[in-house]
Amino acid sequence: MTDSKRSGALETIAAEIRVCTRCRLHEGRAHAVPGEGSPLTEVVFVGEGPGRDENQAGRPFVGASGRLLTEMIESLGWQRQDVFITNVVKCWPPGNRDPQPDEIAACAPFLRRQLQALDPAVVVTVGKHSLGTFMPGERISRVHGSARPADPATGARNAVVFAMYHPAFALYDGSNRQTLFEDIRGLPAEVLAARRRRGETDQASVPEAPAATVAPTTHSATAPDADQLTLF
Ligand code: URA
Repeated sequence: MTDSKRSGALETIAAEIRVCTRCRLHEGRAHAVPGEGSPLTEVVFVGEGPGRDENQAGRPFVGASGRLLTEMIESLGWQRQDVFITNVVKCWPPGNRDPQPDEIAACAPFLRRQLQALDPAVVVTVGKHSLGTFMPGERISRVHGSARPADPATGARNAVVFAMYHPAFALYDGSNRQTLFEDIRGLPAEVLAARRRRGETDQASVPEAPAATVAPTTHSATAPDADQLTLF
């Protein structure tokens, strides 16, 4: 997909989300929150659902959890605008309650289409409801800070899923902050490994083409090591 097609597809999906009435969550929303960030990124963060602040702003992760998530991203030397940030449900669950399974199911086609358009190398799950979408049946206490191949049925056709606790975990109890920051330090290495593997599978999928005609992958880049990883 070309860059402009990718941006266009994301804008089309966002426009549909803003007028969606597929579940009860639309009744209480001030603004739907489709997501934001770089359409060219290799890394997509998927949270649970907008909170009160996000419902007012129409943007993901802008409240207290968002400030901590941004700090975590910046601790890697990355900028928030270099990644894409979205949620499993795009409208505020009233009272900041957990999203219900039928609400997650109603919203799932939007997330799937966003991932199809973005084609990330790594999907970062933020919190247990996002984990449930990408690693069903797993416990966050067991898998946080680790990665495994994404199920292509999620829309992420050639990606790994990297599991993280929700920033609220550290806001609730400050002693968890270190765990969050330690976990995210493993993310650049996963991006590099995924990037290499995607390069290999892209080459392998066009074996008979002369080298000069093999198009580079949209997200391709070489980075010396994970500490200096530059994102697209
Ligand atoms: N928590 C989430 O999971 N997502 C947001 O956008 C904000 C808070």
